[in-house]
Order: sequence, then structure tokens, then C-alpha cells
Amino acid sequence: MAQKKGRVFSGARPTGRQHLGNYFGAIQNYIGLQDDYDCVYCVVDVHALTTVETTRDLIPNTYEMALDWLASGMRPEESVIFIQSHVPEVMELHTYLSMVTPLGKLTDLPTFKEKVRQAPNNVNYGLVGYPVLMAADILLYKATVVPVGVDQAPHVEFTREAARSFNYRYGTSVLVEPDCKFTQIPKVIGIDGQAKMGKSLDNHIEIAATPEETSKRVMSMVTDPQRQRRSDPGNPDVCNVFSFHKIFSSPEEVASINTECRSAGIGCVDCKKRMAQNLNAYFAPLRERRSKLTENPNYVWDVLHDGDKRAKAIAEQTMQEVREAIGLPK
Ligand code: SF4
Repeated sequence: MAQKKGRVFSGARPTGRQHLGNYFGAIQNYIGLQDDYDCVYCVVDVHALTTVETTRDLIPNTYEMALDWLASGMRPEESVIFIQSHVPEVMELHTYLSMVTPLGKLTDLPTFKEKVRQAPNNVNYGLVGYPVLMAADILLYKATVVPVGVDQAPHVEFTREAARSFNYRYGTSVLVEPDCKFTQIPKVIGIDGQAKMGKSLDNHIEIAATPEETSKRVMSMVTDPQRQRRSDPGNPDVCNVFSFHKIFSSPEEVASINTECRSAGIGCVDCKKRMAQNLNAYFAPLRERRSKLTENPNYVWDVLHDGDKRAKAIAEQTMQEVREAIGLPK
């Protein structure tokens, strides 16, 4: 097997069944990175606690998200796929990193300010320390590479600074500064044609939805608002259905819809039906794999528990080095 280029770490909150935005924004990238890197993928359930109102769905959401990851092609025999809270060493490292992190730096972060704006009545201590826990996630596994979109680069920079501060304070090199691996993260707009696809806005399409559910969601998609009647020419450039065609349809079909829409040669209903058909064909193999994986109800949990053990082995080693570097009594 070819030598891997380093170790990737990435985590995602347990949000249950994944949608197209999750798939094209993260999962597809996770899958591809496995060819070149040792990958550590984490369901960050502790992070979720900073904002969730109820933990009722935490377990099913963990299961469903991991199932989608596996059905999408995550390879558990190579990659470490695990649950954040099952490796509590991350909380310990978080504490040590918090001692070398100025408070002002955390409260100045745009992401913190945005969270405060969104939920001014739920500004908890954990929310302020969120980037420190995220840095602990990455540093605990000595990741050399973190896949991010350009807008998330400050998080990785924060992690690098935390590693530097810790190493400087304790005269060590135990924590490894990770590099960003920038990925083109396409912004998938929801079926409302307005905002980024997301569950909270109910403008999403789940990757594992049935063909019927998918078609229903597609048929409700907002199109070119200027196109009122079937006989009106449309403008595919402002239509989200056309953006989806670009993902799921062949270049020939995209070209023909581009022309036919502008000349009113095709109606929106037919256009959506064709797109739904192509979308369903695109995800059919994934959905079949997913359904097969559910034949063994323990499979996903077995994968995650195996990942927990492998993640813990790395974490214990790092923490031993960290405690020694700090000079804590044995
Ligand atoms: S024909 Fe298709 S691309 Fe044109 S406006 Fe209707 S849905 Fe959009």
C-alpha cells in the first residue's frame, strides 16, 4: 500500500440523516481523502451539547449520520470513525489548552459573536470554549491536515496558535500544528431556492430519501420566479433546479435544458421530473448499500466502537506525552 501523506482529522455534529448539502459539502470530500491520508472522522456529540435544546435524538442522529457516511463509501477498515465523547481524553486536553488561551481571543472570534447573536439567552461557558475543544480534537490525534472551506480557515489557525502556545509554555514539541487542506465546498441551495440547504429550514433533500420522497421534494422546488406560465420563457441562470441538473444530469441534458428553458420548449414540471429521475439514479447505489448495511442493526455501532478503541489508543499516547510535557505528577 502506498505511503499516506499524513493524518486528516475532521468532525461533524450528529445531525441525523444527511442531506445533499452535507454530501457535497463534506462527505464526498471525506471519502476522497481516504486514498491519500490516514483519516480520523469523528461524530462530535460533545460539541453538539453547546447548542442543542434536547439530547433526545443524539443517539439516533449519531447512528443515522454514521450510516450515511458508511453507505457513502467511508472505509472503516482504514479510517478511524468514532464518537467524540467515547474518548474523554479530549476534555482533558481541552482543559490544558484553555490555560494557554487568552479569553479575549475567544470572545473576539466572529463565530462566537454570531452564535451570541443567534441565541443571546444561551451563551454558556462551553460556547466560549468551543474553539478550544475543537483544537483539542485536532491536536489529540496529531492530525497534520484539516480539510476546510476557506471560511473555516480561522479555526485551523486558532488550533495552530493553541499548539504553538502550549509547546512554547512547556518547552516541548508534542503538539503538531496542522495545515489546512482547502477544498472547494459547493454551496448547495435548498429547495426554497433562497438559503443554503439545511434541516432547520426544512429546505433539504436527504441523500437516503426514497425515490418517491425525493421526487416530492423536487416537485416543490422554487424555480425562476419570473416564469409564471408554461408559455413564458425561463432563465435557468436564476433557477435552482437548473443548478441541480448541473450536478445530476449529463452535459448533453444540461445543454438541452438550458436551451429549451429559454425558449419555453420545456415546462418546469417536466424539467423537475427529469432532474428527480437523475438525482434518484445518482444516489441509487448509495441507497442500496445503506439498505444492505441496516440488515445488521449492530453494524454501525460495531464500527463506531471499534473506531473508539483505535482513537483512544492514539489519544492515550498523546496525553501521556502532554502530561509529561506539562510536568504533572505520574
Ligand atoms: S424549465 Fe427548468 S430550468 Fe427552466 S425555470 Fe423551469 S425548472 Fe428552472
